[in-house]
Amino acid sequence: MAYAIRDVTAKAQEIQNKRRIHWLNIGDPALFDFETPKYIIEALAKSALEGKNTYANSLGVPELRRFIIEAERKKIKIDIPIDNIIITSGVSEGILFTMATLAQAGNEILLPGPCYPPYSSYCNFFDSKGVEYRLAEENGWNPDIDDFRKKINDKTNAILVSSPNNPTGKMYKKKTLKEIIDLAGEYDIPIISDEIYDKIVYEGEYIHPASLSKDVPVIGMNGFSKAHMAPGWRLGYLYFYDPEDRMEGVKESIEKLARTRLCANTPAQYAAIETFKRPRKYTDEMVAKLHKRRDYTMKRLNEIDRISCVNPDGAFYAFPKVELKNLWKNDKDFVLDVLNETGICFVYGSGFGDYGKDHFRTTFLPPIDTLAEVYDKLESYIKKKEDKLN
Ligand code: PLP
Repeated sequence: MAYAIRDVTAKAQEIQNKRRIHWLNIGDPALFDFETPKYIIEALAKSALEGKNTYANSLGVPELRRFIIEAERKKIKIDIPIDNIIITSGVSEGILFTMATLAQAGNEILLPGPCYPPYSSYCNFFDSKGVEYRLAEENGWNPDIDDFRKKINDKTNAILVSSPNNPTGKMYKKKTLKEIIDLAGEYDIPIISDEIYDKIVYEGEYIHPASLSKDVPVIGMNGFSKAHMAPGWRLGYLYFYDPEDRMEGVKESIEKLARTRLCANTPAQYAAIETFKRPRKYTDEMVAKLHKRRDYTMKRLNEIDRISCVNPDGAFYAFPKVELKNLWKNDKDFVLDVLNETGICFVYGSGFGDYGKDHFRTTFLPPIDTLAEVYDKLESYIKKKEDKLN
């Protein structure tokens, strides 16, 4: 198992006392000027003070799950039964539960390539094979459906879709999503849909796979870390869209896992109820700020020699390509060199799988003045290296 996003943190910490580090490796809004809304912090304190400190129901606090039914109905136009919603310790635990159930020795799980590292790590951990379908950079990182068709087979046990995607920030096109769902139907396998960035969108409209599926089951995952700026609360949920009750066995296994780990954070679950009760102005404000930071980041990155970047539609990452020739051995060498020489901490693209090679991931969460400092430094460092070469 490996998690490049935090593995580079260890490298940065080694040099932290020598130089200032710009932490552009972790997608944590609360590290920047996106503070967890005060009223949900107050709700957290209140629920703890009111004695909501017991273990909770393993599947989650029913009132919170009822609000989730309501929220998902608005998105996918269908009522998910309350028993089909499980509160998890972040989407991370949803990924773990889903993979623990669906990824088994001898089978394969189709994953986007490049992909968020835990998907492939858990496939490895459970002795399954994570097979990456190519996201085509030349086509705005949309899945390459021909490659997809070549990789799906009788061993495939589930298809993971992640849109807006981490690390590319791109959303899957509706037509492609439909084709993927049709193929899932043909092979009689479920879709796993990581929807953690569904409210952080700048371009186009987010489409929930379940809203396109008639009978193909979808395990959707979402949470409170990004749009609610509370990543440290470790709270998320998964839902089963299962119109023909074909996921009963999977659901039962996931429920057993949920009981084995007792429950998700109880006071945080009660506080999260508040996020559904009030209009979410703060997420809209966050998206408006991020939109400007995305535009600025794109402009600066694409002005730098050797760097080119596809415009992300959502999330808060950019995944630029870097021309390494004669200066760096590979993308990891590039990222570590930039870190050591400038203090800017990016994540190497190969940490997101083979399709991430020759790229790096950055985040546009920081304010524009910080981004300006970062890209000034990066631009002049690359220029210096280039000048030395000539
Ligand atoms: N899924 C994706 C695509 C992510 O980018 C992240 C965090 O960066 C997670 C899941 C983890 O989410 P959580 O904090 O809810 O565990």
